[in-house]
Formats: sequence, structure tokens, C-alpha cells
Amino acid sequence: MHDALGQIANAAERLGVDEQSVRDLRHRLSGMPLAYRAGYTTSAVQSALVRAAVAHDADCARRDCATCDGLRAGLTVALAGTRLMVDEELAEMFEAPVS
Ligand SMILES: [Zn+2]
Repeated sequence: MHDALGQIANAAERLGVDEQSVRDLRHRLSGMPLAYRAGYTTSAVQSALVRAAVAHDADCARRDCATCDGLRAGLTVALAGTRLMVDEELAEMFEAPVS
């Protein structure tokens, strides 16, 4: 966990993430129920990932690209998690008793 936090903090610093924005969002997250907080952060990270992937794809013509590799890895996780969630929600809808 500390390794992940260090890697995120290092990348955030290199890319000029605004610390006040981090503090403000942390404060907002702390006021959310735990289950909603996880969904909110996952959704926000996935949305940012997709925006970065689309923008990078428009600019990248390299055959071997570490950025594309990282984006693919993130999109793989996002796609697997989202597909699972949709499938589970559909299964739940069709298994639910009709009232
Ligand atoms: Zn690329």
C-alpha cells in the first residue's frame, strides 16, 4: 500500500497535480459513505483514464510506447471491472421478483 501511495504521489508531483485539489477532494470523500466513496473514486479514475487514452491515441504514432502500454493495462482493468458490474446488475434485475 505504501509503495502504491509513493508511486502515485511521485507521478502526481511530476505531472503537477495541485495539492490543494487533493486535500479538497479528500475532504469531500471523507464525508461520503464508504461504499459510495469506492464507486465515486473508481468512476472518476476510469473517466480520466479514458480521456487520457483518447487524447494520447490521437497523438501517438509510436510502435512501442510505454504510455500506450500503461493505458492498455488501465483500460483492461476498467473494462473487466465494468463488464462484471454490468453483468451482475443485469443478473440481479432478471432474478429479482416482479412486483
Ligand atoms: Zn502511445
